Amino acid sequence: LERNATLAEKMAASGRLVRTMGHEIRNPLTNINLALDQLEAELVDDSFSLYTDIIKRNVNRVNGLITDLLNSLKPTEVRRTFYPVHQLLDETIDLAKDRAHLKKVTVVKQYEKTECDLNLDKSLVSIALLNIIINAIEAMSEDIGTLTIGTEITDTYCLTFIEDNGVGIKEEELQHLFEPYFTTKQDGMGLGLAATLNILQSHGATVDVESEVGIGTKFTIRFPRNENLN
Ligand code: ADP
Ligand code: MG
Repeated sequence: LERNATLAEKMAASGRLVRTMGHEIRNPLTNINLALDQLEAELVDDSFSLYTDIIKRNVNRVNGLITDLLNSLKPTEVRRTFYPVHQLLDETIDLAKDRAHLKKVTVVKQYEKTECDLNLDKSLVSIALLNIIINAIEAMSEDIGTLTIGTEITDTYCLTFIEDNGVGIKEEELQHLFEPYFTTKQDGMGLGLAATLNILQSHGATVDVESEVGIGTKFTIRFPRNENLN
């Protein structure tokens, strides 16, 4: 949980950096556009329009990229309702059942006897949990994989864990796990866990990861209960 705090700070800091850079790039782009308009107005014929069009198109493209980048940094909008956590887990596991089936993964549920209603955006949290579950399935070898999903519920929190007996994560990789674009997969995007952390943190939840190479990995998510979050 200690590591988690520093990670959140790091993410926030890199977000600020990207935002600043986005605005810094946009200012000279605006100047290029203004100069270009001026140039077009002063040119007597359109013999250079081939070139000015290329410049315009590319300026617009960079502008669009920056808009996407800045939008991706906006905090996720969450629409909460009270929803039973075991039902949400069941539904999420169901979304991954084809992948689990293909790899012949055994799914074990270790739910607490009592259900726990959490005030959350169920589609967002489902995506967050699904990202963790898909990674777990991808980390396990065919036939011998076991995915254990369980809960521990107290008066103050509802804890959900997702455990696999897959390849595990190297110590030096653990600290980069939630960074955008961090991936060790040939065809990976490295965006799953970055989105997951964003979603869970906007629900006031914390995420902890324990892993041992060759043994497996356990993600633990702790949701606060009965909390009046915005
Ligand atoms: P991607 O799955 O596209 O690589 P993610 O953000 O989902 O991106 O995961 C980032 C990296 O974290 C993965 O490439 C992998 O190295 C590591 N990882 C995540 N979950 C596990 C797991 N359960 N077992 C082993 N490695 C994992
Ligand atoms: Mg992934």
